[in-house]
Amino acid sequence: MATPLSHIEADSGDASNLYRVAGTSAATMQLALGLSRALQTSLDPTRLVDLFSDHMQGFVSHDGMLYRNDALDIQHRLGGQGRHRCTYSLNIGDEPLGELVFCRGRKFSAAETALMEDYLCYLLYPLRNALLYQTALNMAQKDPLTGVYNRGAMDEALRREIGFSRRQSCSLSLVILDIDLFKSINDDYGHIIGDCVLKAVANSIQNCMRSADQLFRYGGEEFVVLMRDTDAKGACLLAERIRKAVESLPCHCSGADIPVTISAGVSTLVEQDTPLALFDQADQALYLAKQEGRNQVRCASKDL
Ligand code: GH3
Ligand code: MG
Ligand code: MG
Repeated sequence: MATPLSHIEADSGDASNLYRVAGTSAATMQLALGLSRALQTSLDPTRLVDLFSDHMQGFVSHDGMLYRNDALDIQHRLGGQGRHRCTYSLNIGDEPLGELVFCRGRKFSAAETALMEDYLCYLLYPLRNALLYQTALNMAQKDPLTGVYNRGAMDEALRREIGFSRRQSCSLSLVILDIDLFKSINDDYGHIIGDCVLKAVANSIQNCMRSADQLFRYGGEEFVVLMRDTDAKGACLLAERIRKAVESLPCHCSGADIPVTISAGVSTLVEQDTPLALFDQADQALYLAKQEGRNQVRCASKDL
């Protein structure tokens, strides 16, 4: 059973809830201090919810918690999901911070909900700081036009994935995808439609990928997909699937139907490859795909 949504708000000048807690016993004050200290230790919103839940067990026992923030695409669940729920919409002024739900098999009493509301106030400012930090991180790592990861994020991911692949002895493949004759799309239809095509292509690539694959916008009309635990054969199949999906895209932009194709170069990590070598092999394969007529996939691996 779900209780109606309640709103927890804090205005910068109003700390009355915090002082209300201060009228309680020394043991409770210790718990409150522990909660407050714990919430200073992380800038990860989901970690803060974990810490909040842990410490709240000292005040109101609960089976689990849910936290949702649509703006940052966060859906975090922990513990069991009992049939009774207390849902809070968290805000500071008119700044929404997401929705937090306490879950339990047994009903929450009025005294317990009053406690939840008191202690939720401890979460608001640390959570706001963590959300601001996450937003800044996203802006630094993502391409604002297409919403996919940018080149800086790719350089970091490539080093990380090569390390992972060596430690786990699993394969790693990389695909570079380049929109064919994109300059003439801009020239014929204008840059706004060109931007619309870029978004449609990024979206189409994403729809073809597995959840462990990572997509980056490498340059103007060039994308890179990194595929963990994928050999040359699997990577070429994925590149071909993307090529076909883009070719059959209904690319409607500002009332125009734009035909779009891409070419792709695929490489697969071998023992001694550096990030640069892995990238360069895919780039050379892409060059061949372009030379041989575009709208095709070329694979650098000799094993195929
Ligand atoms: P090829 O098939 O050989 O790849 O030809 P191409 O025309 O796609 O390649 P070229 O490198 O000559 O042109 C790429 C174009 O991409 C030129 C540039 O104006 C355009 N471009 C780069 N970034 C953006 C962007 O963010 N938006 C738009 N609309 N165009 C962009
Ligand atoms: Mg290019
Ligand atoms: Mg191109």
